[in-house]
Amino acid sequence: MTFEYLKALDHSYTMQTYGRFDVAIDHGTGATLYGLEGEEYIDFASGIGVNSVGYAHPKWVKAVADQAGKLAHISNLYYSQPYARLAEELCTRSGMASAFFANSGAEANEGMIKLARKYSFDKYGEGRAVVLTLKQSFHGRTITTLAATGQEVFHQYFFPFTEGFRYAEAGNMDSVRQQDGEDVCAVMLELIQGEGGVNPMTADFVSQLADYCREHDWLLLVDEVQTGIGRTGSLFCFQQYGIQPDALTFAKGIAGGMPMSGVLASAKCAHVLGPGTHATTFGGNPISAAAALAVLEILDEMGPEEIKAKGEYIRKTVESWKAPCVTGTRGMGLMIGIGVQGEKSHRELAAQCISKGLLVLTAGKDTIRMLPPLTISYQEIDKGLAILKQVLCGE
Ligand SMILES: *Cc1c(COP(=O)(O)O)cnc(C)c1O
Repeated sequence: MTFEYLKALDHSYTMQTYGRFDVAIDHGTGATLYGLEGEEYIDFASGIGVNSVGYAHPKWVKAVADQAGKLAHISNLYYSQPYARLAEELCTRSGMASAFFANSGAEANEGMIKLARKYSFDKYGEGRAVVLTLKQSFHGRTITTLAATGQEVFHQYFFPFTEGFRYAEAGNMDSVRQQDGEDVCAVMLELIQGEGGVNPMTADFVSQLADYCREHDWLLLVDEVQTGIGRTGSLFCFQQYGIQPDALTFAKGIAGGMPMSGVLASAKCAHVLGPGTHATTFGGNPISAAAALAVLEILDEMGPEEIKAKGEYIRKTVESWKAPCVTGTRGMGLMIGIGVQGEKSHRELAAQCISKGLLVLTAGKDTIRMLPPLTISYQEIDKGLAILKQVLCGE
């Protein structure tokens, strides 16, 4: 199939909800992808932070194939080994007490919001259902998680949105205090806002917010859908902030390309969601869970220090170019934002990278976002940076 034919087919028969780049991917290995005619792309995107161990990693492929040959799906009415083993791994490594598995980031966030509201209902009764979120956040595309997302552009068309969300300024405790009220049960935030522009929260803000939550018995909910599973140089980003959330969500990178997400709850709210209160048909799918166990093993072999070192290498290299269009770099580990200014928008620069063989993402209004596979080699990094330099330095 030619690219033009594929594009026409897609446009004829699919809802055009995505502003796709002019690229079709056929297959990949490591952090290198290949188009329909063998064109090569270095991947600094991992889907969107999903392919955490790159493409066709032998250990991941074997785990998926073995589990597919054994048991692809079984209803959550029955026990299955990958589900329980993965829950144990994630809880043990994060200091959390219980896990619930779902299929997407938005769905996991919905589960976490349900958990927070029920925690409060069980303890205080009705009327304490508001979840504070932060401006510039992103929490998903369902009606409820759109409402949770603190960006006006997402609050269009689909009225009525779910009630019970208010928005505070990121990094501003006064703004959090202004939203204070008898009706609040939780605060939900990303420690590094991803879609919003790769904006890390300061350690000071996060620790003050955690204290404030504790004083008011608000649950501290951390959306680690993008920051989780090694992305920032620790299994979860919160582990570098010296806090322990009451609950967190993960998704994107967990199963290295298989759909999976979940909620982890601390001891305090481990059993708030009991029988009949929450469920999903596909959640915790055995193949996804086996894939996730393989991802954790592969990340163990590599170690978190390597993720940090690669991230620092990329940022230092980009900064050393002193490109006039670059305002600076932000992020942690291999979650990296490059602020850009000037004639060309972040989207135009990203399209230029892609046309030269480097996949990158955008975020916020002026940020090029990079989420390479955590297993990317330095050789692939250097190839990708050479293309990025051509684009950013206008060579
Ligand atoms: C991507 C993302 C989501 C939504 O995940 P989906 O799997 O697309 O539903 C939610 N929160 C954050 C922080 C994300 O980056």
